[in-house]
Amino acid sequence: MTSVTADQRTELLGLTQNELRDYFVTLGEKPYRARQLYDAMCRRRITVFEAMTDLPKTLRGILEERTTITRTQIQSVFISSDGTRRLLLKLGDNSEVESVFMPEAHRDTICISSQVGCPLACSFCMTGVIGLKRNMTAGEIVSQVVVTLNHVYGEGIQVPHRTNIVMMGMGEPLLNYDQVIKAVRLLIDAKGLAIAPRCVTLSTAGVVPRIYDLAKEEVRPRLAISLTASTDELRNQLFPINRKYPLAELMEACRRYPSGAREYLTFEYVMLDGINDSDQQARELVGLLSGIRAKVNLIPHNPAPELPYEASPIDRILAFQKILIGAGLASFIRRPRGQDISAACGQLAARHQAGA
Ligand code: SAH
Repeated sequence: MTSVTADQRTELLGLTQNELRDYFVTLGEKPYRARQLYDAMCRRRITVFEAMTDLPKTLRGILEERTTITRTQIQSVFISSDGTRRLLLKLGDNSEVESVFMPEAHRDTICISSQVGCPLACSFCMTGVIGLKRNMTAGEIVSQVVVTLNHVYGEGIQVPHRTNIVMMGMGEPLLNYDQVIKAVRLLIDAKGLAIAPRCVTLSTAGVVPRIYDLAKEEVRPRLAISLTASTDELRNQLFPINRKYPLAELMEACRRYPSGAREYLTFEYVMLDGINDSDQQARELVGLLSGIRAKVNLIPHNPAPELPYEASPIDRILAFQKILIGAGLASFIRRPRGQDISAACGQLAARHQAGA
């Protein structure tokens, strides 16, 4: 037998239990070994075969030679004074993506990427500046959670409280639909990573047909919509995709998205100084969201030299929020996390690629 080079080894993280079982059958192994490996890899987050002591040594040797758990590696870590950690990750082909870990007293939130870069070119977003490099595989998407949790808590160690996963890193998840859905299923698998289904949120700039597809899925993540404008005229300038799927169509898809009795649909609204933050625009937003059980997260814009916008002043954000709340909408101002380490939205990877 010729020896297998590193690049050809099968990546195991990202395979479902059934796929792993089928693979083990091709290796001539017993199916229950696949269950053991899945438990080690997904539930206990072990990434080295040597530590899987419940597997026979010979099998570990075979796996070592032909497979790898994940090729995702930590390239660098930036730790903010507020505890936020930003991980620059290197995928198997040397592509870079980022994940952000945000601790809070009773839960952690991990923000993950779904594409290397992004094709949508929203004018206020750094990821748009680099464009789309490629889609991520389900295994790569899931590996961000495994690698991030292992970095913070250690491999094989139970996380002390629950973890929220938000797909708000690089990329447009609904343009990588199949791999994203597969990743969501793996994340919430009770026998694996066991993230609570209600703790997985997918954020989209508004790929309307895929919102309808998502609505039909058996297991659905929570949906967040990056709105950031209350009229087509402005949204066309900020989100080129709005020309394809204008607000009326997007809002209709939102109205039809099934959510639980007490569940809110989240709308993200990045506050851009003098662009979308007037009282009048707040009232337009109220009108746009009428009839939807909506929660509006107001996000102070994270400025960058490459982006032509400034952040709205805090008193403007408060005045805007007051109008929303006065009209009966739930609205929160998102505390900027990790600003001292450019944790917002593709900034790290984008900067890194620009050589800055
Ligand atoms: N493509 C998806 C997910 C990635 S963007 C989407 O559009 O939702 C994730 C969130 O980051 C979005 O709500 C987006 O509006 C926000 N965002 C992007 N650039 C930002 C910036 N410079 N400052 C603050 N928020 C930003």
